Amino acid sequence: MNNKDLANLIFPEAKDISFYEEKYPRRELKEGAIVTRYAPSPTGVMHIGGLYQSLVAKKMAEQTEGVFFVRIEDTDQKREIENGVEQILDSLEDYGLAPDETVNKNGVDIGNYGPYMQSKRKEIYQAYAKYLISEGKAYPCFCSSDELNEIRENQEKAKQRTGYYGEWTRCRNMPIEMAAEKIKNGEDYIIRLKSPGNPDRKIKHKDVIKGSIEFPENDQDIVIIKSDGLPTYHFAHAVDDHLMGTTLVIRGDEWIASVPLHLQLFYVLGFKAPKYAHIAPIMKEEDGNKRKLSKRKDPEAAVSYYKEEGIPKESVAEYLMNIANSNFEAWRKGNKDKDISDFKLELNKMGVSGALFDMVKLLDVSKGVISKFSADEVLNRVLEWADEYDKELYELISKDKEYSLKIFGIERGNVKPRKDVAKWSEVKNGIIYMFDDEFLNSDIDYEFQKICDKEEIRKIVEEYRNNYFDISDDKETWFNKMKDLSEKLGYAREVKEFKQNPDNYKGHVGDISTVIRVSLTGRANTPDLYEIMNVLGEESITNRFEKVLD
Ligand code: GLU
Repeated sequence: MNNKDLANLIFPEAKDISFYEEKYPRRELKEGAIVTRYAPSPTGVMHIGGLYQSLVAKKMAEQTEGVFFVRIEDTDQKREIENGVEQILDSLEDYGLAPDETVNKNGVDIGNYGPYMQSKRKEIYQAYAKYLISEGKAYPCFCSSDELNEIRENQEKAKQRTGYYGEWTRCRNMPIEMAAEKIKNGEDYIIRLKSPGNPDRKIKHKDVIKGSIEFPENDQDIVIIKSDGLPTYHFAHAVDDHLMGTTLVIRGDEWIASVPLHLQLFYVLGFKAPKYAHIAPIMKEEDGNKRKLSKRKDPEAAVSYYKEEGIPKESVAEYLMNIANSNFEAWRKGNKDKDISDFKLELNKMGVSGALFDMVKLLDVSKGVISKFSADEVLNRVLEWADEYDKELYELISKDKEYSLKIFGIERGNVKPRKDVAKWSEVKNGIIYMFDDEFLNSDIDYEFQKICDKEEIRKIVEEYRNNYFDISDDKETWFNKMKDLSEKLGYAREVKEFKQNPDNYKGHVGDISTVIRVSLTGRANTPDLYEIMNVLGEESITNRFEKVLD
């Protein structure tokens, strides 16, 4: 009996690997094209870090006219969650990161290198495992968990590295006949790599992000096929990224320690190894310490958070690009109207250690993004968001869409658009006072500022209403009238004048317009009052003056 017979005994059905090598030919792409992927395990809600990785991967593929594909790594079936795959695909779609090749939500493969779901690739892994066994490069291992524990305890006692390697192994050098006998007797086993490595030798790895690193060679006889017949991550990674033609593996840096093992797997399988770019995780600062953004502790770790809050996908993408390449911010300043796809991302400019996630900054970026939206765009986005998350707001703005459009048009579409909205969940509070049904019928707690004497306020409002207010005034006339009114009542026409001679005045034009602003909106801070008044219209303004005088 030889290795080939043993391989046949273990995987009688498995095909020769030449079948798969022919089935999945090398991709014909132009020189320098990057084939890369996002390879999530559907074991939890989609994490912002996953979105970040996909963004980087998709961008690199796009920039080089390569391919970005998604492979679902569902070999750990115990940890899988319901709708995990759907959530991942939806999130990618939502953020404009739809892959060129993937399994879709109906389980159909799109692309020629599938199946794109590992649980459907069992026979492929087995073919390659069979090949390794027949070459004497992998073997069945019958050690029970008790035996493995015993090995570990002995290693600890002897102060040696733990693991299944070298002289500590028990099945590595088992005679073929003996292994065959055990298999025929129905004993449980798994398949292990027969590692050719020697940790006294070093390998050099040049990571696209992390730079040059030296590692000792791997000598662990790691499991490649588990007792359920499915592969481990390591083995599947090598087989899949080979067959799928990946040229650059972009993945989380928790895998960097596995590089020596992965390079060895590519080597024993006779594959050309891809390049690697290990991305540092997104971090959070807590009590002065940095830690990974955690699904358990941080709501903003889940991609769904941004949707729920109504933070536009463009804002999230811009912010992530900011984290990825710190020169993005400068580029954006110089290229305000360009599409994010015009920015050239460079992997070697990515941080070697984790970037801090900064919500304040993200919201700031978002304000910039939203400021560029047209009123139409804002209305549609708010409607879409509110339809799902705030029915009251939805009713409010869909009642009279033309009116809503005017509200969203305030200080928008001009050279210096308003920059005060970061997310749709803030919109209701920001516009509710513009609706007469709400405003006129509710108790308003008018927060007058500097001028709080009731009689003075009454005088200002009445004077303005009776002698100055004219809805048809242009902005300049409107503003001059504010000044005229100020002067008439003993306030300075200009803030400057007031500051020069504060004793000569009761206050200044700003105090007067604040009284009008608060009377009409109930707020001391609003966008441009002239524009607000134009949107409200004469009747509403008259009623609002009536209400405040009451
Ligand atoms: N399934 C692995 C993970 O979720 C993928 C790592 C990789 O991209 O190769 O961490």
